[in-house]
Amino acid sequence: MEGDYEIVDNRFLRYILGNAALERLATGFRWSEGPVWFADLNCLLFSDIPNDRILRWSPDVDHGGSLSVFRQPANHSNGHTRDREGRLVSCEHGARRVTRTEVDGRITVLADSYRGRRFNSPNDVVVKSDGTVWFTDPHYGIVSSYEGYQSEPELDGCWVYRLDPADGSLSVVADDFDCPNGLAFSPDESRLYISDTGLFGTPDRKHHMRVFDVVDGRRLRGGAVFAEIEPGKSDGFRCDTDGNVWTSAGDGVHCFDPDGNLLGKIRVPERVANVTFGGQRRNRLFICATTSLYAIFLNRRGAQTP
Ligand code: MG
Repeated sequence: MEGDYEIVDNRFLRYILGNAALERLATGFRWSEGPVWFADLNCLLFSDIPNDRILRWSPDVDHGGSLSVFRQPANHSNGHTRDREGRLVSCEHGARRVTRTEVDGRITVLADSYRGRRFNSPNDVVVKSDGTVWFTDPHYGIVSSYEGYQSEPELDGCWVYRLDPADGSLSVVADDFDCPNGLAFSPDESRLYISDTGLFGTPDRKHHMRVFDVVDGRRLRGGAVFAEIEPGKSDGFRCDTDGNVWTSAGDGVHCFDPDGNLLGKIRVPERVANVTFGGQRRNRLFICATTSLYAIFLNRRGAQTP
């Protein structure tokens, strides 16, 4: 242990700042997820799913930061990202759809069903540099009325999708998960990492991350287990510019190198759901952890854009 860190591999010492502490920026949520950084607006948006709201945190001149409600009700939104035009793209448990918020505030439905059957509850989303939208559709938002509305699934499984908003085409890119959850491309987009967090209400749920090769920008190949997360699960994660994967876990944030070796951990006092890089230099890791939003400055920059 070294302060807020646990060093597993000495390479991790170059990634962290020994004098930068974990900060709790805000608290009072039920279950927070989906952080996305807006550099142009100098703010972070994230979901408080059971409370059905999207929150906005911004650093203030007094460095204390300010928290406000960005959208409520919010259809029990979960994961968010931005497309290459900077627009907010969101997964909505409640409406069982993926939406885009236009610059004038209108909401465009990107997809809400596959072959005439409603999605389960889209969970997490990333946008590739070609504008295609890749998202996971586990059942967590319909198995209870805590994070959405309890209802029956219409599809035969929990799959991963690729949507091309240019022509509306939607395809299943992975169908062999119990419950796909977080996902992120490697910096060069040659790989897609997808976690499996297992079926709700079953014992010994899966808690690993898999890695796929992206073929022709539209299909996935492979899918070997990249890392087992212990304790906890890999609900959400992001890559830094070197391709290291920073993922949620039960005891904080775990950092894996591109070969799947655990380098170290950031200890967080609450169970972590999702993370994202942000701040003016994209070297601040924002951490959604159950009832609170945390952040820590690192010696690495996030790979995701914009
Ligand atoms: Mg998730």
